[in-house]
Amino acid sequence: EERLPLPARTRIFTVANQKGGVGKTTTTVNLAAALAQSGARVLVIDLDPQGNASTALGVEHRSETPSVYDVIINDVPISEVVQTSPEFEGLACIPATIHLAGAEIELVSLVAREQRLRGALDRFLAEQEQPYHYVFIDCPPSLGLLTINAFVAAREVLIPIQCEYYALEGLSQLLSNIKLIERHLNPDLAVSTILLTMYDSRTNLANQVVNEVRQHFPTEALHTLIPRSVRISEAPSYGQSVVSYDANSPGALSYREAASEIARRGEK
Ligand code: ADP
Ligand code: MG
Repeated sequence: EERLPLPARTRIFTVANQKGGVGKTTTTVNLAAALAQSGARVLVIDLDPQGNASTALGVEHRSETPSVYDVIINDVPISEVVQTSPEFEGLACIPATIHLAGAEIELVSLVAREQRLRGALDRFLAEQEQPYHYVFIDCPPSLGLLTINAFVAAREVLIPIQCEYYALEGLSQLLSNIKLIERHLNPDLAVSTILLTMYDSRTNLANQVVNEVRQHFPTEALHTLIPRSVRISEAPSYGQSVVSYDANSPGALSYREAASEIARRGEK
């Protein structure tokens, strides 16, 4: 496998878009796997009560499994809940269980409710003998307190955009929320990366969305497009990233290429 340059300090990404089904989880899991395959140490934080990232990475997340819920609500250290993915030694995951569905409400009355994940993550990263190179936080499709916790814990936002009609709808709301977080809670936060997903080159519409996104986000949008591919959508049911499930499929190649772009561009 191709070795990619490793960042000098941990790059922490929140993968966010308040729309569901745009490829947040798929992007989180496959970029993480591609970077781990290239030699990086990568941590995925599943912050969606659906637990799709945990499923796709093949890690245990039954309701009694210690999870990100315990970290955020009960101050349990990340070291006690983190699991290694069966796929790559350098790939770890903090699973989400169904309990996380209640966290949105429980957080409201907690002290420093926006900073809970950040505190835990800072402590965890500081105690590692072998540093993590990347952290990816997979967000639920909403702009509630869980997503705010992710924005406060990260420095980079990665927004997946589906190449479909209405793709850009809601984006200005997302961007203004990120601006608010930057102003009040996390001055280091910036949208660093936009990735176009489920691209179908045969449709004019997809190409229109690509052009429009590249016009709005000339530096943030990756050159790589993620094609619509059955192999990508099949992989999670085998508890695998597409990078392992079908390594030479166009979907796997595109996620490896996106990972390479992200690694080579570095953090601004
Ligand atoms: P989100 O996390 O934003 O809700 P997902 O990553 O779960 O979105 O993707 C939504 C659905 O689309 C899933 O069933 C997933 O397998 C499928 N999917 C995601 N990316 C692709 C792709 N490039 N080609 C085909 N299906 C995809
Ligand atoms: Mg998801």
